[in-house]
Amino acid sequence: MRRTKIIATIGPASSSDEVIGKFLQLKVDVFRLNFSHGNREQHLQTVKRIRKIAHEVGFEPAILLDLPGPKIRVGQIRGGFIHLKEGHQVSLCSRQEKCLSGDIPIEIKNFEGIVKPGDRILLVDGRIELRVKKIKDEKVIAEVKRGGILQSRQGINLPDSKLPFPPLTERDKDGIELAFAEDIDWLALSFVTMEEDLIELRDLVATRGEHMGVIAKIERPEAIRNIDRIIQSADAVMVARGDLGVEMGVEEVPVLQKKIISLCHLNARPSIVATQMLESMVENPFPTRAEVSDIANAIYDGADCVMLSDETAIGKYPVQAVEVMLEVIRKTEASIDYRNLAMARKPLGTEVYDALGHAVCMLACDLNPRAIIVATFSGFTAQMVAKYRPPYPVYAFTPNNLIRNKMNLIWGVRPFLAPYTESIEELLDSAIAELKHQGLLQKKDLIIFVAGLPLTEVSESNFIKVHEVE
Ligand code: PGA
Ligand code: MN
Repeated sequence: MRRTKIIATIGPASSSDEVIGKFLQLKVDVFRLNFSHGNREQHLQTVKRIRKIAHEVGFEPAILLDLPGPKIRVGQIRGGFIHLKEGHQVSLCSRQEKCLSGDIPIEIKNFEGIVKPGDRILLVDGRIELRVKKIKDEKVIAEVKRGGILQSRQGINLPDSKLPFPPLTERDKDGIELAFAEDIDWLALSFVTMEEDLIELRDLVATRGEHMGVIAKIERPEAIRNIDRIIQSADAVMVARGDLGVEMGVEEVPVLQKKIISLCHLNARPSIVATQMLESMVENPFPTRAEVSDIANAIYDGADCVMLSDETAIGKYPVQAVEVMLEVIRKTEASIDYRNLAMARKPLGTEVYDALGHAVCMLACDLNPRAIIVATFSGFTAQMVAKYRPPYPVYAFTPNNLIRNKMNLIWGVRPFLAPYTESIEELLDSAIAELKHQGLLQKKDLIIFVAGLPLTEVSESNFIKVHEVE
């Protein structure tokens, strides 16, 4: 049984019926749509296709819509590209009417008001570095510290500047509308800098999306400074190593990854490790040793999910990339003593739900059950059990379809749909019947059952039962 979950980004290389079908057969847990690319209609069609094929295959994944946030881009460069030479000065300009040929056009208003002398301007994933010298005639004059070829529409990172943008752009709002219309399970917000950046999205979700989960993408230096409160106010967290590496320096990424994942554990929030996990497989059918080690290390760090981006979105070998990831997860997990890990982990403070998650796990380690069955209305009890990394299957039952799909993101949890009932006996009977039917339980198996009562509303986990299957 695999515990670490896989997120695959769907793009031109993977939006055909055939590849989606293959991903579902391989049980890709979460399908990610990247709203940075493509239009709403295309994404809508992809969602419909995933759901239709999922129904046929009999495996319903979670769908995650990733909102681009305030990403700044280079505009349309005359001639398509500019060769930036080290030591030279360049001029960057965000006022169309003033842009001369040779200037770098920037696609935001008032760029000259955002950066200040001494700030770094990073282009093409950090490969090109400029440093601001001065602001002159409403243009930014910068020196090329590290040169290269710059093309139209490439991304810009400003790690030293304070960005005055609202956390949700018009494009994000368009994506959010799609998410509400289509009951998407997870929304990821890019370039979060502080807890407050999540408020607007949270409010929208509370009034219109209700059970939708919000993922904070950690990719700005400010987010690192405010990490505790961001983690507490998000439902899950992504270590967005692409932009994070550009803005903080690549050498910081492994340390930050460990730190963010361990904070997520403490707070029982699912964590996602993203970007370049199998980058060479965009072009090649085999991974590098370093990439395989990177996936294994994310698992040793304790990530809930590992993510594929370009590998599955635009790569030549999307299915092979998923297969490699599955194989690495299997091997790595088999080498980990989860029992020891579970025994070592202690609850924080005196919260009942946290202590209950811990108790379930300790009970399991003592009794060696066939499975842990969770009855959860909101998914939270499943998250609390997963926090302690129990070395047993966790089958989570919820009456809500969206929550069922959403729980695909949680480490070790296999979600099922439960009948809507107030009776514990009825729920347990039907859960056991379903698991027997699937060959996952048989007569005389011992199970540990945990629930939040009452069953039909959001409630703290407060009930544990040890039960022998009849
Ligand atoms: P992106 O986010 O792919 O949407 O930029 C992930 C990252 O920055 O690593
Ligand atoms: Mn990013």
